[in-house]
Amino acid sequence: MCAAHLRAGSVTLLAALAIVFLADGAQADFLILENGRTYRGTLKAYPDGSVATSESEYRFSRERVARSSNEESVAEVIENWSGEIGECASGTAREACLSLAKFCVFQERYKEAKKFFALWGKHRKWMVFSSKYYFILSNTKAKRVKEIGARLDAIMRFYQKEFGAEREPKQDFVVRFFKSESQFGAFARDAGLGAAGAYYDPSSRELVLWDMSLTNKNLTFEAVYHEANHQYVGAYYLAHQPKHVWFSEGLATYYETAKYKSKRIVDHGRKSQDYLTTLKAGIRSCRVTPMEKFLSMEYRDFYCGGKQESLNYAQAWGLVYFLKNTKDKGCRAFFERYIVVLRETKDDEKALAEALDVVGFEALEKAYEAFNKHL
Ligand SMILES: [Zn+2]
Repeated sequence: MCAAHLRAGSVTLLAALAIVFLADGAQADFLILENGRTYRGTLKAYPDGSVATSESEYRFSRERVARSSNEESVAEVIENWSGEIGECASGTAREACLSLAKFCVFQERYKEAKKFFALWGKHRKWMVFSSKYYFILSNTKAKRVKEIGARLDAIMRFYQKEFGAEREPKQDFVVRFFKSESQFGAFARDAGLGAAGAYYDPSSRELVLWDMSLTNKNLTFEAVYHEANHQYVGAYYLAHQPKHVWFSEGLATYYETAKYKSKRIVDHGRKSQDYLTTLKAGIRSCRVTPMEKFLSMEYRDFYCGGKQESLNYAQAWGLVYFLKNTKDKGCRAFFERYIVVLRETKDDEKALAEALDVVGFEALEKAYEAFNKHL
């Protein structure tokens, strides 16, 4: 089944895919009758709970679902799916139930979303905690889940104020909070990621992390503030995922040092001793990436693993920390211009080129080095 067929169909892809689940497990054969045509194939359950025949179709269906606004077809999808899913007898149906819950979130039908999340949770034996802005799915202790929920809501409120929200965020996001590192690792590997503690997947809008409270409680909170920043920046502030990693990781690391007290974020942007130590060691051993290259560095080069990746994070933190704190007017203007153009055009290259028209590489690098000497 290709995308062209799906576009031609009047029934939405989700309704169509819900027609049969022939086998339990990660893969299932399907049979679809759509507008008198029959499609056969193998259906694969994706880690976020979606089901599709291929990676590209999965992406396509996500976009289609996100765009769908026809109330009648939405109600139809929900009704069809509810009937098919029944009591979530098979694993595939259970995962489809999660897809349906998330579909309802996309459609801002939170009451129905809650119902399907609860059904999924019951059969998965996971709790589903509903905070103001999040649905948190978890198999760790309830106390820990509520604690994370309170911090997520606090940082979301803070980001709205800090970044100037154009609209009030809704309960748009899903969090998977695993009990153990091994469960988290298996899930991340399935999603094709080798993440260490937490990650944000923009395609499913899921924040995924594990409960590090036994080893280091603060690390879990830092991960929450960090990943929630990726979420907020991608979904609301820029309305796209930035291509330049220094900017996205720089912001996320800058805000991960936020301080929480009495259900509020009371301080942020504090100097990170860990990043600073890594950065200084990198400068001493001449391993930091030159500014010109670093500013346009993309995912593959940034997330290169090992010591260099750690240094890249420290360098991104250092750069944003500098841009937020420098008194150099030119460098501040560089940062402002970059953000304005990025938000207006969603064109990362254009944003960087225009910002560099304000202050060139050399002046930026010189001011940055001078600033670092005093840290
Ligand atoms: Zn990050």
